[in-house]
Order: sequence, then C-alpha cells, then structure tokens
Amino acid sequence: MSTNTMCLHRLARMPYLALPTVPHCQVTYIWISPCGKFPKGKTRTLDSEPQSVADVPRFNATLWIDDVLTEITLVPVRMFRDPFTRDPNKLVMCDALDLQGTPAQFHRRSECAKAMEEVKDQKPWFGFEQEFTLMALDQHPFGWRDDPYPTTRTGPRTPYSRTGVGEVGLEKIWGRDVSLSHYQACLYAGVKISGITNEGGPAQWEFQIGPCEGIELGDHAWTARYILFRVCEDFGVIPSFHPKLFDHPLWSSDGHMNFSTEAMRSPGGLTRIHAAIERLAQRHMEHVALYGDEHNNRKRMIGGSLSSAFDTFSWRTASRSVSVRIPGHVHSEGRGYLEDRRPPSDCDPYVVCQALVETCLPPPGG
Ligand code: ADP
Ligand code: MN
Ligand code: MN
Repeated sequence: MSTNTMCLHRLARMPYLALPTVPHCQVTYIWISPCGKFPKGKTRTLDSEPQSVADVPRFNATLWIDDVLTEITLVPVRMFRDPFTRDPNKLVMCDALDLQGTPAQFHRRSECAKAMEEVKDQKPWFGFEQEFTLMALDQHPFGWRDDPYPTTRTGPRTPYSRTGVGEVGLEKIWGRDVSLSHYQACLYAGVKISGITNEGGPAQWEFQIGPCEGIELGDHAWTARYILFRVCEDFGVIPSFHPKLFDHPLWSSDGHMNFSTEAMRSPGGLTRIHAAIERLAQRHMEHVALYGDEHNNRKRMIGGSLSSAFDTFSWRTASRSVSVRIPGHVHSEGRGYLEDRRPPSDCDPYVVCQALVETCLPPPGG
C-alpha cells in the first residue's frame, strides 16, 4: 500500500470516528512483546466507561514464546484517555501473567513495582529521555532518500552526520509533524510527557517522560511508546528504537534515565547524589548487561565526546561523555538529580528504574 493510499484511508475513517458510540467504551489493552522491545495492543468493548483502572476487567492474549503458542492474562495497571478515538475511550497499560499466574517472563513490571514499594518513603522520581529514529517503509531513515542530505552552517553533511539538537529548517531535520502530533496525543492521553527535542540525526527525535514517581515511569514510558507507533502509522513511517541503527561512531540512540529521591532534591542533596554514584560505580558491568544487548551497546558506548565507555564507569558534572552526569544546574543548586546515560533507547524502563533503586537505595543493613 502506498503512502498516498494510506493517507486517503486516514481521511476516510474520520466520519466513522465521529459516530456516537456511548454508552459503549472501547478499551485498548497495551502490553509488551516477548522480546521486551515493542508495545502491543488490542481493543475490546465495555458496556460503560470505566471510572478508574479498577473498573477495567482482565483480558487475555495469545502469543508465541519460544515457538509455542501460549496464553497470557493481561492485568490492567494504569488507565489513560485514548487520543485516537478520543473520550470516553481508553488506553490501558497492562501487566502480564502466564498460565501459572506468575508474571510473564518478558514483563518486568511486577518486580520493579516490588522494588519501588520497598523504597516508597524516599519518594523516588524518574525522568526518561526516549530517543528514536523515524524510518520510511523502505527501512531507510525517513527523508533520506527523497531530499538532499541536510546541511549545517559548515556545509552539506552525509546521512550519518549529526545536525545538532534544536535545529530548525527542512534542510536539517525531518519529521517534526510526527513528533508534534505524538506530543499532543500524549498530553491528551494523560501521559506525563515533559518535552520533545530533535536529536542529532536528521530524522532522529527525543521525547521526555517525567518526573514520575516510582512504578509510574515505566507505565507512562511504555504507553508513550505505544502512542508513538500509532501516530507513526498515520504518517506512513515507523519508529525505530534501535540503539545502533548504523555502524557509524556518530550515530546512536540513548535512553537516559534521570533519578532522584526526596533527600537528593532537598537542600544539601548533592552529597546523597554523590553517595548514589559511588554505589552505581560498584555495579557498572552488571548494569550495562541488564540495560541492553551487549553487541549493540559496545558499539554505542565507545567513549569520546558523546558517550561513555562500555567497560568503565565514569561520572562528572555537566559532561556528556560519562556514564553518569550531574547536570550543571544541580551542581550549582547543591541538590536535584543524577542522569544515568548508559541505558540504550531500546531499554526496558522498568528494568532500569529497578536497578537504580536497588543499587542506590539499599534496604537498611543491606
Ligand atoms: P538532558 O539535559 O539530558 O537533555 P532532558 O531535559 O531531556 O535532559 O530530560 C530530563 C528529564 O528528567 C525529564 O524527563 C524531566 O522530567 C526529568 N526530571 C526533572 N527533574 C527530575 C528529578 N528531580 N528527578 C528525576 N527526574 C527529573
Ligand atoms: Mn535530553
Ligand atoms: Mn540526557
């Protein structure tokens, strides 16, 4: 199907979407694919609008795990408004249970929720920076085939060049419509999106989620990913969260996780931030292994001006070539948060948040 035909279909569907369907309510259940990298979703009709996630019944889904078709139970955990079919319809982020009623192995939410429950008195906050690249249907980055390569003040660049964060102008960036639409859709849905930025590559973008407390971050980040896939369908493009789309030193996608506790955010909190960084340093190799695929991340984390080294832990204030950065304003205010720059763009935010609290906030006596 051509992009033109798809655009016509999008227009054709509008009058149907305007038809009144109350009192029925369409609820789209969102869960995570067995590879842990993609959101999935399916929709059912409820007889009335659920007032909270507690009103949304469990549902089931079938999927292939290790070449076996199996069934999982979808357990609703957080409810959002549906920005595609609008009120009263809902998007519902779900946890997933296997046939034995234990958390499905690819779904890391419940473990993360347990870790958050144990440290909830410390009010852990997270902010996630999701980088992604818009791909055309031919699997090339959106725009790279049709348009001349982007130029910068210093002249034309190759497809692999970084155009710089914050560029404006069609000769430098592509896909703003997609990113803006996703931003609007997330705000409507109730997803805590805190901003968008165009990233280094011409079709590379970032959105930020947060600050969110505890388990909330993973729920909002996964729902934002789901919304991005759906928005991209409407524009005839595909989002890629691949951390190393091209084997080129300037090209990678990160998933920075910002983290703080109430004590870190309070006057004098910088000492707490330093203590947390010391703990992170002790478990560096464990964390990079947890955060993502080693092959891709060794290529992404090469050290230098934009990334830290895979094998060694480093930290500094206001530096982007380290494992953990203390933002400049946090240093000058003496309180705030730290940024873990090691997670790749295709990380599971539940896994990263859990590792941060278990490492930085050990139980008393632990
Ligand atoms: P960068 O400077 O690395 O580009 P961004 O501005 O893109 O950072 O993202 C910072 C993220 O951190 C945002 O999602 C923001 O909501 C979040 N954030 C802000 N304050 C805190 C805090 N105290 N604790 C945790 N996350 C925070
Ligand atoms: Mn950022
Ligand atoms: Mn960052």
